[in-house]
Amino acid sequence: MKKLQMVDLRSQYLSIKTEIDKGIQDVIDSCAFINGPAVQLFQKNLEQYLGVKHVIPCANGTDALQVAMMALNLKPGDEVITTSFTFIATAEVIALLQLTPVLVDVDPDTFNIDPKAIERAITPKTRAIVPVHLFGQTAPMEEIMEIAEKHHLYVIEDNCQAIGSDYIFNDGLRKKAGSIGHIGCTSFFPSKNLGCYGDGGAIFTNDDELAKQMRVVVNHGMTVRYYHDYVGVNSRLDSIQAAILNVKLAHLDEYAAKRRAAADFYDKAFENHPNLKTPARYGKSTHVFHQYTLVTQNVDRKALIEYLTAKEIPAMIYYPVPLHMQKAYLDPRYKPGDFPVTEHLSETVFSLPMHTELEEDQLSYITGSVLQFFKH
Ligand SMILES: *Cc1c(COP(=O)(O)O)cnc(C)c1O
Repeated sequence: MKKLQMVDLRSQYLSIKTEIDKGIQDVIDSCAFINGPAVQLFQKNLEQYLGVKHVIPCANGTDALQVAMMALNLKPGDEVITTSFTFIATAEVIALLQLTPVLVDVDPDTFNIDPKAIERAITPKTRAIVPVHLFGQTAPMEEIMEIAEKHHLYVIEDNCQAIGSDYIFNDGLRKKAGSIGHIGCTSFFPSKNLGCYGDGGAIFTNDDELAKQMRVVVNHGMTVRYYHDYVGVNSRLDSIQAAILNVKLAHLDEYAAKRRAAADFYDKAFENHPNLKTPARYGKSTHVFHQYTLVTQNVDRKALIEYLTAKEIPAMIYYPVPLHMQKAYLDPRYKPGDFPVTEHLSETVFSLPMHTELEEDQLSYITGSVLQFFKH
């Protein structure tokens, strides 16, 4: 059996090595390292895949979120509503721009932001909502867009974990995650569902004006060469990463199918287990399983992870500390107990290996070992 890893980037690389190596070599031969043809092509390819008018490539997912908020011209003190159960970057950029992060709790089954809690958190200072499509499933966008419209708020989708997922509207219409709000953001960090071989990110929008503004922000606030009308940032996707992404984007749907097949295997093995709750499939979004995350019930989670580690099965906790309990984000507005679902999840969840190269013997070994823990 191949060695188990949370993400097996090497086996995936070997399966597309010829195309990848050629893409990288072509960039080196052209020496168009910044903003070369590979970047232009990737932009077009991703616009087409997502069905959006504009893709703005940038340096990473955190920058994507920051640039989105800068382009919306939000002012210090403006409130931005987001989830208490996410990777830190979502709240980090809000804080960096001196906006006020307003946290709300999540749904216990999908782990995604709870629209009812969003509505309760709205004040006259609220300007934007940042739903995070956590672990590969789209947040309830139809409800969120309704709330946003009613209160004249912007919606920035943090789509760093769900690229390729389809949101299904009540009338059956499907749209790609990240293409529904005013702006969508994603990351091409190597372990993401569409990962490059370094750092990368992108911003999406259907709004011409916002697109224009975001292209200016990522390029030093420059409107005409060496004329700077805004304070911007330097955030670029380099051509080598774009060449890699052009190869991998063509495989994205096939990769999602492989992740779902692994998830189905896990689901079946853990079905109706008294101590394990398998991840719910929210009916209104396809799941691209960035993570396969179980909720434990009456389990010594630490002992379980130690047991698996001893069997060379990696298991991770995403995320062990809710945002309002992170040292850098302690805030008199919040105290332990304020976000009971998030706090419960932080104490009980764990994630098993999830990637595109999991083989049946590996999945059997993992599920067998987890089940054995409860018998030993
Ligand atoms: C990975 C991730 C980010 C940040 O992306 P980087 O490319 O690492 O900056 C932001 N939000 C979420 C939910 C993520 O998973």
